[in-house]
Amino acid sequence: PEAITVQELANRMAERGADLVKALFKMGMPVTLTQTIDQDTAELLVTEFGHAIKRVSESDIDIDTSEDVDAPETLKARPAVVTIMGHVDHGKTSLLDAIRGEDVVSGEAGGITQHIGAYQVSLPDKSRITFLDTPGHEAFTEMRARGANVTDIVILVVAADDGLKPQTIEAINHTKAAGVPMIVAINKIDKPDSKPQKVREELLQHEVIVEDMGGDVQDVEVSALKKTNLDKLLEAIQLQAEILELKANPDRAAEGTVVEAKLDKGRGPLATVLVQRGTLRVGDVFVAGASSGKVRAMIDDKGRQVKEAGPSVPVEVLGMSVVPAAGDAFTVVENEARAREVASYRQGVLDKKRTTSAPVTLENMFANHA
Ligand code: GDP
Ligand code: MG
Repeated sequence: PEAITVQELANRMAERGADLVKALFKMGMPVTLTQTIDQDTAELLVTEFGHAIKRVSESDIDIDTSEDVDAPETLKARPAVVTIMGHVDHGKTSLLDAIRGEDVVSGEAGGITQHIGAYQVSLPDKSRITFLDTPGHEAFTEMRARGANVTDIVILVVAADDGLKPQTIEAINHTKAAGVPMIVAINKIDKPDSKPQKVREELLQHEVIVEDMGGDVQDVEVSALKKTNLDKLLEAIQLQAEILELKANPDRAAEGTVVEAKLDKGRGPLATVLVQRGTLRVGDVFVAGASSGKVRAMIDDKGRQVKEAGPSVPVEVLGMSVVPAAGDAFTVVENEARAREVASYRQGVLDKKRTTSAPVTLENMFANHA
């Protein structure tokens, strides 16, 4: 019988490897991403996650996602998706802006960057990294609570003159609970009173062991203000991404997650979609949460109109019937009748939930996902 590594199976299912490891652990099989599992176990996981995906639309008129596994030869490398977390004022926004300034493509084009909720940075070797533009663990927790796991890597920002603070510790806990690998950016090293070594020691107390301390968590001393060592941080991300071997099938109907949505006075409902598998094209018919529509136009993070978007690419989508919510699943379907059918069913489920269920808290999130 065919054996497969956990990461390879995750790629084929377009799920995060960490989620599979957690599921296996719950089944009493403690394995790592690089270990192999047998076919029976693999099939069990597929079924398990088929249900998990179904939960998003929960219906008899469901989009059939069970057995929805891409053949290994269809998988291609995809960019890592990164979220920045950390205590208030430790420099999350500054770091996002500084990294964005490093983008060789936007630099060349002199293009105006546009806020769409996520952006991509192209590196000199032509590889890319996708950054989610909503720093903070609230967005992260909220998305995860809704079953949307879009982040491959978390950058934990800690100001070297301030050390670990309550929100730093919360971010550590969320990241660990999600099973997402972390890279520590020790920021503000330009400050005379910065104490990077003290940060490493404090991290140790919270079981985040950086490489210097004999652990496997990468840490990089940076200054978002002076733009120091941003290249090193990007290299650390690339290294982590290589270890994860992130892949997806670009040649299929697109699936993704809404990362940001709003009502624009002139253009109507807008949503930024992070494509996770397949390729999204202008003209595609889709369902996004309780919204549906046909892609009228797509705008990338540089403000350019694009005709298609592949795995790990964030695009603003025009053509939604109503404004979806961040964390909503986005799925291309065969026709508009089907899209409306699924969307209205989901609206019904949402209405029911709103009147019966408790609001999202850390406690019920862990109850659902631990
Ligand atoms: P956020 O709340 O985590 O998003 O933090 P901000 O990016 O808004 O930064 C908070 C403050 O720290 C601002 O006044 C920034 O100018 C300052 N800051 C951010 N990064 C650095 C840095 O590397 N060095 C210094 N000296 N100040 C920084
Ligand atoms: Mg900020």
